[in-house]
Amino acid sequence: MRVARRVASLPPYLFAELDRKIAERRAGGEDIISLGVGDPDRPTPAHVVEAAREAVADPATHRYPSYYGMPELRRAVATWFEGRFGVSLDPDTEVLPLIGSKEGLAHLAFAYLDPGDQAIVPDPGYPVYGIATGLAGAEALPLPLPAERGFLPDWDAARAVTGRTRLLWLNFPTNPTAAVATEEDLGRAVAFAAEHDLLLAHDAAYSEITFDGYVAPSVLQVPGARDVAIEFHSLSKGYNMTGWRIGFAVGAAEAVKALATLKTNLDSGIFDAVQRAAIAALEGPQDHVAAMRDLYRKRRDLVVGTLNRLGWDLEPPLGSIYVWLPTPNGETSADFADLLLDRAGVVVAPGLGYGSGGEGYVRISLTVADDRLAEAMDRVAEAVGR
Ligand SMILES: *Cc1c(COP(=O)(O)O)cnc(C)c1O
Repeated sequence: MRVARRVASLPPYLFAELDRKIAERRAGGEDIISLGVGDPDRPTPAHVVEAAREAVADPATHRYPSYYGMPELRRAVATWFEGRFGVSLDPDTEVLPLIGSKEGLAHLAFAYLDPGDQAIVPDPGYPVYGIATGLAGAEALPLPLPAERGFLPDWDAARAVTGRTRLLWLNFPTNPTAAVATEEDLGRAVAFAAEHDLLLAHDAAYSEITFDGYVAPSVLQVPGARDVAIEFHSLSKGYNMTGWRIGFAVGAAEAVKALATLKTNLDSGIFDAVQRAAIAALEGPQDHVAAMRDLYRKRRDLVVGTLNRLGWDLEPPLGSIYVWLPTPNGETSADFADLLLDRAGVVVAPGLGYGSGGEGYVRISLTVADDRLAEAMDRVAEAVGR
């Protein structure tokens, strides 16, 4: 028996590889602090857990869920969206609950790309866009995000679109660079997509994690975006719900329908108890979101402050749960990550894992407890200061 080429040729998923390294070190007795993966360390808000506890005990949730998500959840999403972004959505045609946004992002490639098609993929970027593009048999056209432009797209370099380019992936606030976009920046993306007849797929997983007065816009605030854009949201980061697997797509009805049609053939929806938890998160008190922003801002300040004392020249990022830094002496991203692991017992994500545009950078995640982050920064200072 042989495994299909599409699987055999996949690179190991970046974090699966990091996990293996960490396990190896820990088995050897080392105290390793991982600032690798972005996975909130704080628990899901108590009222959300309580809603789920009740829902799990209700036999009404034990049967196959709806393929299109509970109508109550779609309505809760539309209400939340209108309150947050001032954009009103039709819960029946412009909202689709997802088994986590990663699932929807990956499946969108299969709904919009035929073999031989092309998709524009941010470089560096969250690996799923490029991998799913390749799995669908399409070609990824890298979209450069130059540091000197604040890691915003260089639209001139994206002119290589052809008649076979179908999809434009974007993500703000950005993983891994922590870049943020204004409504005007998103407007440029919408205009580019409209000009070239592309579907703009905007990943807004970090829309709620922003600092210093910056508020992340939705691409759907841009006039005309509803015709060309689908936006992916997640409860994972904003509500500390990574383990629950719940997110949603909103926007162009045609794209929502295509994704839903594909999914009815591949999965059978989201456990209703998890959907009820999501309703509780979206409709319940939002004070925890402010507390979460505060927590990450303090951690960001600790990390950026430490690194700048060591000679870096970083602007504190305005969004996401990451700090993105160049390697200090021109090392490759892998060499510098190895150096921090060897000398400090600290794991960071090498930038090359996010595409060739990430070479020369590493990503630090702010999702570890305050005392461990402080310890990690002390160790990094010692290791790099030498
Ligand atoms: C974490 C992350 C996601 C995945 O979110 P889930 O809803 O947990 O699948 C999507 N996009 C980006 C950029 C992320 O960093």
